[in-house]
Amino acid sequence: SDSHSNTVAVQATNDDASASKLSCVKKSYMKDDYIHLFVRKPLKRSPIINRGYFARWAAFRKLLYQFLDVGSTKKQILSLGAGFDTTYFQLQDEGKAPYLYVEVDFKEVTSKKAALIESYSQLRSKVGETASISREKGEVLSDHYKLLPVDLRDTQKLSDIAALAGMDTSLPTFIIAECVLIYLDPDSTRAVVSWANQTFTTAVFFLYEQINPDDAFGQQMIRNLESRGCALLGIYATPSLLAKEKLFLDQGWQRAVAWDMLRVYSEFVDAQERRRIERLELFDEFEEWYMMQEHYCVAYAINDAMGLFEDFGFS
Ligand code: SAM
Repeated sequence: SDSHSNTVAVQATNDDASASKLSCVKKSYMKDDYIHLFVRKPLKRSPIINRGYFARWAAFRKLLYQFLDVGSTKKQILSLGAGFDTTYFQLQDEGKAPYLYVEVDFKEVTSKKAALIESYSQLRSKVGETASISREKGEVLSDHYKLLPVDLRDTQKLSDIAALAGMDTSLPTFIIAECVLIYLDPDSTRAVVSWANQTFTTAVFFLYEQINPDDAFGQQMIRNLESRGCALLGIYATPSLLAKEKLFLDQGWQRAVAWDMLRVYSEFVDAQERRRIERLELFDEFEEWYMMQEHYCVAYAINDAMGLFEDFGFS
């Protein structure tokens, strides 16, 4: 069916993301000692794509560290549509891993990730030798890391999975949705955002995804994905920064902020880091760069029952 082929195509966007991250790592934009284990066909991306991924990674990292460094209580992370993201393994190396790190995705994806974690000792040692790993179930269950299959469109299942993973709804929780919700229909996206709001009283919801579908660049961006069988089902429901903020506020989040990546890159990513990476490759496609960055955004929403996040955020 159409919806099945869309699902397969959406899962494939994960391989694309992994290949792009590896391209950045090879050019020294960022460090990731694990992503190469998840990429079968390494690709060299254009400087503009590398810089875009760097901006996304740097903004995500900076907000994640703000969360991890505040207060002294136990914390947890829930990554929605985590794909082959390697943040957990990196945080382990940095001595910054939270008490609990939970990743969910479609079973097709978690099965592959579970198989790779099982077969590479570098990954396996990070989840602990006593972890129970099942390729068939698409599960990894260890003390501090869980990988579980779920279709995000089923928030009842999502609740069950969070409970199964041992999440404590009163702990400070960082929820990650990087290029994920935009692939869901608007009702499902609202349901996920509402579920997270009702479940976690002290939480940051981090979102990174496309905006501005209506101009020429936006239309091209949509056509590119459609030509690969993939629909950005959410983009017309939340087409702007204001709409992304409204998505969270309407579902009960206390605060929400959305910036486009042009602003995030120039005002939030550290100047020193920008200077470093801007020397890595010859770069002259400035028009294209500005346009691309206007079509992606970071939004975060906050629930702050414990009063931890007064200083959290872009400024
Ligand atoms: N978050 C990862 C990252 O930033 O590298 C992966 C992003 S990838 C573009 C989108 C991911 O969302 C895929 O792994 C896909 O399988 C997952 N996804 C999309 N819709 C989903 C759904 N309804 N339930 C679970 N996972 C979903």
